[in-house]
Amino acid sequence: MGSTGSIGTQTLDVVRAYPDRYSVYALCAHRSIDKLVEQAMEFHPEMVCIADESLYEPLKERLAALECKVWAGSDAIAQVVTMPSIDVVVAAMVGYAGLKPTIEAIKAGKTIALANKETLVVAGEIICDLAMKHHTPILPVDSEHSAIFQSLAGEDKSEIEKILLTASGGPFRTYSLEQMRTVTAADALKHPNWEMGAKITIDSASMMNKGFEVIEAKWLFGVPVEKIQVLVHPQSIVHSAVQFTDGAIKAQLGAPDMRLPIQYALSYPERLGSAFPRADLFAIGALTFEQPDPERFPNLGLAYEAMRRGGNIPCVLNAANEVANLAFREGRCGFLQMSDIIANTIAKAPFIAKPAYEDYVASDTEARRIAGQLLKPFNF
Ligand code: MG
Repeated sequence: MGSTGSIGTQTLDVVRAYPDRYSVYALCAHRSIDKLVEQAMEFHPEMVCIADESLYEPLKERLAALECKVWAGSDAIAQVVTMPSIDVVVAAMVGYAGLKPTIEAIKAGKTIALANKETLVVAGEIICDLAMKHHTPILPVDSEHSAIFQSLAGEDKSEIEKILLTASGGPFRTYSLEQMRTVTAADALKHPNWEMGAKITIDSASMMNKGFEVIEAKWLFGVPVEKIQVLVHPQSIVHSAVQFTDGAIKAQLGAPDMRLPIQYALSYPERLGSAFPRADLFAIGALTFEQPDPERFPNLGLAYEAMRRGGNIPCVLNAANEVANLAFREGRCGFLQMSDIIANTIAKAPFIAKPAYEDYVASDTEARRIAGQLLKPFNF
């Protein structure tokens, strides 16, 4: 799911490197039709699915020479992922849209290689309960969570003292609050270490991505958020670490290259050889760590607060962020205003302590409406 995005294309790099081991059953994309056609021509999947229904006819036409089924619509994606021949579903759609198909894949008992962290931010409790009930493994693709997962190999989760979640600090790590007031989407899209899609790159610059990762770690590893500490580590070599009750710290290090955690999620519990670039510790020289600044990056605090309140609030946090993130990318709000919109949406949204799936859908819609209204005074 999300085959034409950054994680999707890198997943196909891994598949390309191991043609005897992996084959592609289905490719699902949002609307990048050219890239999707190119991928289908190369990987010959049984099914190709595009979320944007208006692209169904042109897609079918362009794939006429291939013997593959062509489907369209978001409901179709939720159906494709349940097909019996599928072993692993790589969940790499952007944002809330990934929730429903991931739920269906879990119910169908598919191993999930999870890149779409918003799924756990929005509905972590439902996802974890379902995964438990259907004995579905959820393997992290997010580099930090892959590092934590690798550090926990052979360990007992009850012996975790804390999780040390690293963050690059993004392009504005050293900016003053004054400078951050006037940054543009183009500035924010210049990430120092990682090549990622536009939405997550903005989330990374605002540290909302790290806030989401705190929530993601809580659900994946069953650790309360008070035991998850964020460290700014500008070199992005230590991908995260676990501190145990005896004081020992285990970390996973490597070059900042998403193909490594993607490949590990696919090959787990094995490790496969790879030709990806190695981290050159001599060239890097020093690894440094800093406290995150809560004043310049309030999103981190908002995420902790959302988790402390629980219920539908993390879902509201995500929806407000999706609205603010898009508005910032389109020049409809300032960088620091994104946090104001998110905080005010949370303050205005009705609280639901024990949400069912339908409550999450309603909370998402309502939070988007509130955030959209809050945006209006900022229109310029
Ligand atoms: Mg990450």
